[in-house]
Amino acid sequence: METGSDNNIKENRSCLQCGSVMTGRVDKKFCSDQCRATAGNRRKDQDIGEQLIKEINLRLRRNRYLLHRLSPEGKTTLRREVLEQAGFDFRYFTYLYRTQKGNTYYFCYDYGYLLLEDEKVLIVNWQPYMERS
Ligand SMILES: [Zn+2]
Repeated sequence: METGSDNNIKENRSCLQCGSVMTGRVDKKFCSDQCRATAGNRRKDQDIGEQLIKEINLRLRRNRYLLHRLSPEGKTTLRREVLEQAGFDFRYFTYLYRTQKGNTYYFCYDYGYLLLEDEKVLIVNWQPYMERS
């Protein structure tokens, strides 16, 4: 569909991919098929990145939700397999907190856990002093 109004405007347009000046039809976005293909691939890469971010955000959100649900008071010791069976994914966390004693807490936002001996896990709440690590 053409509106007719813009088609009379003559202007130098730049290729959206390489930036070279184009002449010809005003609705052209790319100077060549090669530039069009390159731009298409780049868009696909961005989509893959966005998809990955969404998936990891979902896992982090679920991890945080499970820590909260299994430890509403913010401090609970339970068996590691309880978390695993609930769908907790130990590969994903938002940051680490190392104590002076050398213990490492893994946090999913405001809830964290410490791996204990005997396949146990201590769930804790984030505390303001942990910012100073
Ligand atoms: Zn180009």
